[in-house]
Amino acid sequence: MLRRKLIAGNWKMNGSRAQLAELAAIAAAARAAAGIDVAICPPFTLIPLAVPRAGGITIGAQDCHQEEKGAFTGNVSAAMVEEAGARLVIVGHSERRQYQGETDAIVRGKAEAALRHGLTAIVCVGESEAEREAGRAVAVVTSQLKGSLPTDNGEGALVVAYEPIWAIGTGKNATPADVAEMHAAIRAYLVENFGEPGGRIRILYGGSVNAGNAAALFAVEDVDGALVGGASLTAKDFVPIIEAAAG
Ligand code: PEP
Repeated sequence: MLRRKLIAGNWKMNGSRAQLAELAAIAAAARAAAGIDVAICPPFTLIPLAVPRAGGITIGAQDCHQEEKGAFTGNVSAAMVEEAGARLVIVGHSERRQYQGETDAIVRGKAEAALRHGLTAIVCVGESEAEREAGRAVAVVTSQLKGSLPTDNGEGALVVAYEPIWAIGTGKNATPADVAEMHAAIRAYLVENFGEPGGRIRILYGGSVNAGNAAALFAVEDVDGALVGGASLTAKDFVPIIEAAAG
């Protein structure tokens, strides 16, 4: 099954107007790569400034609220994300699950809100180090998929990101064999639950992806791209990952 690779950068709570200068070189690399999708998710405040500088790459958000509107101080709805010019949103990142106490049910609500507003939703799942060491990684991720994914397959707008928590921002990598095992398990779940469209849902890997390890990860079956944190902050680090995905 042919799935276009997606390389999505998550700037987290980093970046300023000055950082938007990185977008020009990232967009140039994305245009040269052709045949793959590239996205950058800056902080909310930079989204309207990033959109006119996007040069063909997708600008995304790092979260959206599950409700349409209301008394949710500090939150941003999917409609607001869309109106700001973003076309994609990351939901259920492990940092939000950990620091904002987001449950699977909340993450599902966010993914559904994103799809309702025509946004691509990247739903993040991943086990902790203790869960992996206890041999529970696949069971934990399967349970997160069960609780976090919308019932709708999104018709191309739903993306899953497998991000082992212990590999995020640590420089530690899951081995290609571990990634292959997990992505195969995720694919099996998607096909079982969504039928044939489940075969078209992209599954990204995330966790310390960089210029040195990207090609080996992209060679793994069912790795349809990457969700990249630290190495997405500069074109110097991010462009080689885009090039590795283009092959
Ligand atoms: C992430 O935060 O989604 C991530 C994968 O971060 P890093 O690439 O820095 O590990």
